[in-house]
Amino acid sequence: MAKRSRAQADLDRLEASGETRLSLTDPDARLLAKNGQALVGYNVQSVVDDKHKLIVASAVVNDSSDVGQLHGMAKMAKEALEVETLQVLADTGYYSSNELKACEDDGIVAYVPPSEGNGRLEKQGRFSRKDFSYDPAADAYRCPAGELLRPMKGRWQNTSGRVEIRYVNRKAICGTCQLRARCLTPKAPYRTVARWEHEDVLERHRARMQGAGELMRRRSGIVEHPFGTIKCRAGYRHFLVRGFNKVRGEWSLMALCYNFTRVLNILGFERFVAYMAAKALAVREYVLAAALHCIQLVLGAFWTHIVSRLAASRPRPTLAG
Ligand code: SF4
Repeated sequence: MAKRSRAQADLDRLEASGETRLSLTDPDARLLAKNGQALVGYNVQSVVDDKHKLIVASAVVNDSSDVGQLHGMAKMAKEALEVETLQVLADTGYYSSNELKACEDDGIVAYVPPSEGNGRLEKQGRFSRKDFSYDPAADAYRCPAGELLRPMKGRWQNTSGRVEIRYVNRKAICGTCQLRARCLTPKAPYRTVARWEHEDVLERHRARMQGAGELMRRRSGIVEHPFGTIKCRAGYRHFLVRGFNKVRGEWSLMALCYNFTRVLNILGFERFVAYMAAKALAVREYVLAAALHCIQLVLGAFWTHIVSRLAASRPRPTLAG
């Protein structure tokens, strides 16, 4: 009875919070899949620069999936680096058309291998979306039989919220097509191809990915450098604290320590100290210049007033009798 009432209390908590999962040991941790195993934990996101392997941006989230993290992380890195454009590489887990669009809008050139899907149609020997090529001049898709699928009027929203345009072939053409069995289900009268309203973003991305083999091969060597170092050198394989705030704090310290030792390894101790001394001097000079500027501004604003007060307080000459 005690167990049942505890379980009921947990179910009530879930219903009240609107969540679908409840972690009893750490309320912020979530069930994640890692190397085929399920474990309760957090998902650490990081952006690493390819030249020095420094962690440029990082965050701790509790989403089990990386989809939806690409743009936010890339933008954080872009702001940290203070650059106008940025090239980012990510693995298939980050592939998302909306994220690619958001990246492009923010001047971020993303390279993410597209997820292949389950290839159901190919396995059945049927034509998939890849067998239909888009002709921008005609605004039409060309099917494997060489026929054009034209756009229908209006827009449709698919289950994931994307707004799409539907391209269809004529019933009379599909009905007599020799390839019909490989293209349509027995009951379908004609073939339809849906095109996202921002499909051009994906087309540009596909074109980029054609020549990105070498770049993508380098990807894991860049981003896994900090993780490999932290895990092997520090033996850091799990968080020591619980709750979002503490875990984020713990990870920030770990990332800071990694970056710090990395900088020491790159520069060497002498150059690092010289660099910090030059920085400190520059800051001191900057602070002094800023203080003088403030004094100048204040004096400038009150100068006329001060001059008139000084003139008024000056002793007046008296006539000797
Ligand atoms: S069934 Fe229609 S869309 Fe499919 S290949 Fe034949 S003509 Fe083209």
